[in-house]
Amino acid sequence: MEDTAYFDTKALVADILAGKDLAAVMKRHKLSERGLDKALATLIESGDLSQADLTRLFSSSQLIRSLTWECPVCRKVLPVAIDTCTRCGNAR
Ligand SMILES: [Zn+2]
Repeated sequence: MEDTAYFDTKALVADILAGKDLAAVMKRHKLSERGLDKALATLIESGDLSQADLTRLFSSSQLIRSLTWECPVCRKVLPVAIDTCTRCGNAR
């Protein structure tokens, strides 16, 4: 399984917004944990997952909490692959 495996963006966003189980989402989209991590980073960067969605999901979704961190300074939710807050520059 490649980390860069193709995934259906709309379907993946829908699954994430629905708060589906992490293992089920990974299986459905044929993503490894690392692949899902990268996909999430891509979705955040492209704006497919908005900051409002992420902030809401961060408090309710284990999936999102396992793949992101919330900046303690400005509350921006970032993918774990990014160590420094892109809004305020706070290091993780
Ligand atoms: Zn910040």
